[in-house]
Amino acid sequence: MAPYMAEWDEKEIFPVETMRKAAQLGFGGIYVKPDVGGSGLSRLDTSIIFEALSTGCTSTTAYMSIHNMCVWMIDTFGNEEQRRRFCPSLCSMEKFASYCLTEPGSGSDAASLLTSAQKKGDTYVLNGSKAFISGGGDTDVYVVMCRTGGPGPKGISCLVLEKGMPGLSFGKKEKKVGWNSQPTRAVIFEDCVVPVGNRLGAEGQGFSIAMQGLNGGRINIASCSLGAAHASVLLAQEHLTVRKQFGEPLASNQYLQFRLAEMATRLVAARLMVRNAARALQDGREDAAVLCSMAKLFATDECFGICNQALQMHGGYGYLKDYAVQQFVRDIRVHQILEGTNEVMRMIVARNLLQS
Ligand SMILES: Cc1cc2nc3c(=O)[nH]c(=O)nc-3n(C[C@H](O)[C@H](O)[C@H](O)COP(=O)(O)OP(=O)(O)OC[C@H]3O[C@@H](n4cnc5c(N)ncnc54)[C@H](O)[C@@H]3O)c2cc1C
Repeated sequence: MAPYMAEWDEKEIFPVETMRKAAQLGFGGIYVKPDVGGSGLSRLDTSIIFEALSTGCTSTTAYMSIHNMCVWMIDTFGNEEQRRRFCPSLCSMEKFASYCLTEPGSGSDAASLLTSAQKKGDTYVLNGSKAFISGGGDTDVYVVMCRTGGPGPKGISCLVLEKGMPGLSFGKKEKKVGWNSQPTRAVIFEDCVVPVGNRLGAEGQGFSIAMQGLNGGRINIASCSLGAAHASVLLAQEHLTVRKQFGEPLASNQYLQFRLAEMATRLVAARLMVRNAARALQDGREDAAVLCSMAKLFATDECFGICNQALQMHGGYGYLKDYAVQQFVRDIRVHQILEGTNEVMRMIVARNLLQS
């Protein structure tokens, strides 16, 4: 991906065929069970894979992480018929998936979502809209959280929709600071009829399914930040060695040496946090959700700082699109905002501390 990341960013290309090649290596359903086409690998393996891929193109890898989260949700909470219907073509990335939780009026307060799904016979009729959906409009399968019951998290269910269903449409493609190799659109439901057989889990289980998906999603997105920071440290290292000022390479300046040392140290600390959370989630530890939140908070903040410092070390060149470092900065900025903002991560950690 590395040779193409700048072009995909500039031309806003969603690299479908490249992702399908990645899926041939098993990256379309990394932690999905093998009987439906998944790779059956661990959360730790997944973190290592996403970190490595992200050094090549953070934006594309981040979309792949969302896709993997969706396939895992269907694999884990779907019945046998649903698993066999959806997972194989998603694992091969013949089809692509989107995760639909956020709405125009409900972001951080996700449990207040309003998209309604009214049961009529053996169907649900959906009305409402989702905002900021990654892949939206270009993807085939939509994992949608919607309200089948009363207010609050217990009234939410999870339905799987497919592109082409009557009443399902999409907003305009958003213009974004980064993440330009993947489209972001609103997803709109107008009397959209969905078979009851497309519901994952029980009625009222949807919020729990959404949050369990996000535990892994947070490790994955944090891993994408690690990859961007790793690549940026290497770029800074190279630039400091090559660029001369005051008659010497920048690398002979002790201030810059120390900053580089701090960047590498912060990267290793962030990586350990993420890997630790991945192991906790894999082992089903009780504190896994809070460790995932801590890892997402720490790693995405630290890695943004590292990439930004790497840009600073490039001086004016860092601000030019000819140099990759600016794209890493632009692409990982949003990791502090989505899959729960870093303020929401603090809320989860604080709630856990004060309750116990
Ligand atoms: C490029 C992009 C892709 C996305 N992809 C998806 C996707 O695929 N699927 C999906 O469902 N969503 C997606 N999102 C949505 C994303 O998850 C939300 O933007 C995010 O959860 C924040 O919601 P909001 O934008 O409504 O901000 P708000 O909730 O309005 O928050 C605004 C600010 O206030 C802070 N804040 C809010 N409440 C509190 C509080 N109680 N205490 C302290 N601070 C608070 C927030 O942290 C934030 O800084 C995407 C967003 C972007 C930008």
